[in-house]
Amino acid sequence: MAKEEGTCKLCTYEPIVGPAALDEIRRLAEPLRDLRLQNVSSTLVGGGVAELMARLTPLLREVGIGARWDVMTAEPAFFDVTKAFHNALHGGDEEITPESYALYLETNEKNAGLISGDADVVGVHDPQPLGLVQFRKAAPEQRWVWRCHIDISDADLRVWGFLRPFVERCDAAIFHLPQYAKELLIPQIINTPAIDPLDEKNREMPPETIRDTLEELGIDPGRPLVVQVSRFDRLKDPLGVIEAYRLVRKWLDCQLVLAGGSASDDPEGAQVLEEVRERAEGDPDIHVAELPPNAHRTINALQRGATVVVQKSLREGFGLVVTEAMWKGKPVVGTAVGGIAQQIVHGQTGFLVRTVEGTAYRVRQLLANPGLASRLGRAAHHYVRENLLITSYVKSALLMLHTLRA
Ligand code: UDP
Repeated sequence: MAKEEGTCKLCTYEPIVGPAALDEIRRLAEPLRDLRLQNVSSTLVGGGVAELMARLTPLLREVGIGARWDVMTAEPAFFDVTKAFHNALHGGDEEITPESYALYLETNEKNAGLISGDADVVGVHDPQPLGLVQFRKAAPEQRWVWRCHIDISDADLRVWGFLRPFVERCDAAIFHLPQYAKELLIPQIINTPAIDPLDEKNREMPPETIRDTLEELGIDPGRPLVVQVSRFDRLKDPLGVIEAYRLVRKWLDCQLVLAGGSASDDPEGAQVLEEVRERAEGDPDIHVAELPPNAHRTINALQRGATVVVQKSLREGFGLVVTEAMWKGKPVVGTAVGGIAQQIVHGQTGFLVRTVEGTAYRVRQLLANPGLASRLGRAAHHYVRENLLITSYVKSALLMLHTLRA
C-alpha cells in the first residue's frame, strides 16, 4: 500500500513513530478499504475539533478510507444557542429558552441535506450537528456515531436531557476520557485526541524564526516568557492567568503572552478579548495577541519561545494546546481539570494546579529552576510521543470503524 516516495504522508511519520506503528495502521485499514466515512462539525477553523478533522481526514484517505469532512452552516444566533449549551454542558448556569431549543432543531433541519446518503458511517461532532441524527437515512446499514469533545461529566441536566435522545439515536458515542462517559443505551468508545508532529504548528522551527516571530509581536526574546494560547473563552480563564502573572512579577522578571483567535462557532470571543485587553492595560509586558485563523506558525513559535506554558482552564475537554506545548519540550503548568489532568503527571511531565496562587507558585518555581523546567519538558515530550500523536488517533479511528461495522 505504500505510495511512491514523496507522495506518502503516512511514511513521513516513520522517523518519529517507527515502521511497526505504520504497518499496524495499514493492516487495520485494509479490510475497510473504500468504506465511506463522513464527519460533520460546526467550524472549519479554530478549536480542537477543526484541528483534528483537518489532520485525520487526509490520512484516512491515504489508507483507502473514503473520508470526508463537512461543516454545517448556521446563523450567528444558532452559535449563541450552542455556546450556551456548551457552557451548560460544562456545568454552567445558563438560561435556555424554548425558542433557543427550537432554533437548534430548525438549524439542524436546514442542514439535513449535508448528510451523504451513501456514507457508511456518519460522525457528528459535539452538540452542534447532533440534531442531524433525526434525519439519518433509512439505510439500516448506515452507522451514526456521536463524537463528544467536551467534558460532560457535570452537565446541566436540562440541556443534557434535551440532547440525550439524539445521542441515543446514534449507534455509539465516543468520549475523550473514561470519566466523561455517561449512562447511555448505546455503546461508548474512549478515544484520546492527538496532535500532528509534522504539521506547521508542531514541526521543528529554526531559532531565528522563533526569535523573529517574538520580536514581530513586540516580545523581548531575551527575557523569560510565560505563554497561554487559547481561544478567548472564559473557561480558559485568561484573567486568572493575568492575576497569576502579576503575582509572579512581584518576585521575578517575565513577560506574558495571551494569544488566541476566535472560532466561528464561539460568539463570546470578542467580548472576552475586550475584557482581557482592559485587564492587561498599562503593562507593556503583557502581550495580548489576537491571531487570525490558521496562525499555526505563530502558535508554534510562541510555544517554542515560551519559558513556561500555562493552561489555566476552568474546564477542558482535552486541551490540545497542552499536548502541543508538551511535544515542544515545554514545562506546562495546567489546572487539574479534564484532559489536562490526564496529560500532566504532576511533578513528572508538568505541574497541576488549582488556583491563581498555585499557578504563580509553580511558574515561579520553573522560572527560577531551568534544570527542573527542562527535565519536565523532556518527560512531557516523551509522553506525547508515546501516547498522543496523530498516528495513534488514526489507529483508534480505524478500530472504531471496525467496531461499528462488526
Ligand atoms: N488554536 C488555534 N488558534 C487559536 C487558538 C487555538 O489554532 O487562536 C488551536 C490550538 O493550537 C489547538 C486548538 O486550536 O490546536 C485548541 O484545542 P484545545 O483542545 O486546546 O481547545 P478548544 O479550543 O478545542 O477548547
